[in-house]
Parts: sequence; structure tokens; C-alpha cells
Amino acid sequence: MTRPSWIRTREVSEKEEAERLAPFAARAADSTGRVHPEEPHEYRTAFQRDRDRVLHSRAFRRLEYKTQVFVHHEGDHYRNRLTHTLEGAQIARAVSRALRLNEDLAEAVTLAHDLGHTPFGHAGERVLGQLMRDDGGFDHNRQSLRVVDLFEERYPGVPGLNLTAETREGILKHGCSWEHPLALPPLARQRTLEAQVADAADEIAYMHHDLDDGLRAGILTEQGVDENVLWQRAAADVEAWIPAGVAASVRRSRVLTALINSLITNLIETSAAKLDGSGVCCVDEVRNGRDPLVALSEDVSADKLALKRFLLERFYQHPRVEGMLRKAEVAIADLYRVYRDDPELLPEWLQGRRRDEGDARAVADYVAGMTDRFAWAEHDRLLGSS
Ligand code: MG
Repeated sequence: MTRPSWIRTREVSEKEEAERLAPFAARAADSTGRVHPEEPHEYRTAFQRDRDRVLHSRAFRRLEYKTQVFVHHEGDHYRNRLTHTLEGAQIARAVSRALRLNEDLAEAVTLAHDLGHTPFGHAGERVLGQLMRDDGGFDHNRQSLRVVDLFEERYPGVPGLNLTAETREGILKHGCSWEHPLALPPLARQRTLEAQVADAADEIAYMHHDLDDGLRAGILTEQGVDENVLWQRAAADVEAWIPAGVAASVRRSRVLTALINSLITNLIETSAAKLDGSGVCCVDEVRNGRDPLVALSEDVSADKLALKRFLLERFYQHPRVEGMLRKAEVAIADLYRVYRDDPELLPEWLQGRRRDEGDARAVADYVAGMTDRFAWAEHDRLLGSS
């Protein structure tokens, strides 16, 4: 078929990246490639393909039934890990676009960053970490890499999604000091700017929506939140223009928007100044640099830490939230023990993992992959209803 001259082939997209992106941005054409080499796509760049593979994975669909802070039956308007991930990806794209970074890579990393999360949020991770203490430990970033590298069966003879080294490096947040069955991506002192943006976007996303969900649930109150400087500033901005008599819910929504906007704007402007000041000219200089270059300013960073502490003390550790999660922790521990006692109960696709990496790792892989509702259903099936 002859193609019209205006059509955007992969080569055209790669050329556009070279012209449009900053010199320190990651370029798909420069990717160091995949563990199993593949023919390039006619229309999509390597990072676009990574993003699409993550989006179409089974593990991505399971995020819908994994807890962010609330267990899933608490209400339909609270975030789950899927909506958290999508909100994070939106922030990552906005920041990348402003900084002329590679949006596709930042999006791929953000969409994949929580694929390894256990059911029941951090409670699940805490329990698995304790249970796996003598068997190599458990970490959700590592688990996300295991999911994309091992557990999606899509290609004959190739395990996992076969993502590029850049996306895999982005998923590995804190480096890797553990055994991994596939060759790890080459790691440097820093990760790409796109991976740094993904981290920052994740954090801004959850602080914003946890605040929103906590207020919506009545666990947090505006009288409590207004001790925080970021909230105070956002509220003052809104007060300056909002008409009197506006519904409290609309006013609060404006304050939340002003707050998230101030964080994103500060992130863009501080990072831009750091990038300018550092004089980095390419990805290699970014990766070998002494410090990360995507960051909030020092004062906003301190305010953000105060907000994080506030959320921890007043929301994540609130008796109503803790009560729900305590029950979930017991369920995770029960499931882990049942499968450890009889690993033949594990599905067929994990029997090979048992041979390669032992029963404990295979059981952790299975339990970590569960959604909240599947974990409850398995618990009821194997141990009777609780
Ligand atoms: Mg996250």
C-alpha cells in the first residue's frame, strides 16, 4: 500500500521527538532496547508500545479492584489503585509536556508503577514483608517489575511484556538489591527525568486524592486540614475570587484544585530552574548526576512533608481505616500460610516459579497479584467465611 506523505510513521514520530523534546529528555529512538529484541512498529515508538502494553495487561485491569486507602465496598466514589494510577499518569504527562520530556515514557512508567501492589493497600505489603522476612523480603516496586517481566503471558517463548530498559528502570524505583530472574536494566546513579517525574506525579496524585477522599468520608475535616500551610494558601487563593454563597462542596473542590495546581506548578518551575542550572545536556549526564533534577522547591517540599504527616496521622492511621485494614491483614496472612502449607493449591502457571525460585516466592507472587475481592473470596473458599 502506498502511504500518503503526511502520515505519521514511527520514523516521523522519532524525528519529531528529536526536534520537539529537550536535549536531556529520553528519546524512543535511543532506547537501549528490550531483553528479547523485536522488530520496531510501523507507527508507534518503543515507549508508546510500552505504554500500550501496560494498559492492555491483565494486571492493569486488576488495579480497579485493589484498595488505595479504603477497601472497595466503602463507597463508589473513592479512589482505587486504577483511578490513582490514571490521575498520576495525567500529572506525569502534564509535567513532562511542560518540561519537554518524553510524555510516553513518563506515562508508561506511571501506568506500571503500582502493578505489583498487594491487595488492601500498604497493609497487604506490610504483612507480606513480614511473612517473607527470611525468604528475600517483599517490595511493591520489585513486584511491579516481576509482573511486567514474568507474569503477563503474551508472546510465544517470551515471558512478560518485554518492555524497554528505560521503562523497566523507571519501575525499579530504588534500585535493585535482590535476585531477579531476568537481566536487570542498566542502572545509574539517577534515573531518567521521565522516571523522576513519574515518582513526583505519584506522590502529588495520592496526596491530592487522599485528602479529597478523607474529607468526603468525613474522616478528615477542613478545620483539621487548615492547619497545613499548603491548604491555607490554596484556601486564601480561592477566597480571593469565589462568590459568596457558593456550596461548601464546590468551594472545597476549588481549594483542592488550587492545592494540586500549586504543587504541579512548583514542580515544573523548580525542576526547570534545576535543569537550567545544572547544564545537563543529555540523558547520560542526567543519569550520572549527583542529585535528582525533578523536585519541588525546599519550602514547598517541607510543606508537602507536613501534609504527608498529617495524612498519616489523621487518615491512614484513623481507627475507621485501621479497623478495616486489620481484618485484611489477617486475611493476607491466612492465605499465605494456606498456600505455603500446600503449594499444590497454587495455579498451574505458578508451579514453574516454585521450581525456579522456591515456594515462598511463588506464594508471595500469587497473593500479591490478588485483588481485594478475589482475596476475600479465596479466603472464604479455603478457610470458611470470616
Ligand atoms: Mg502509586
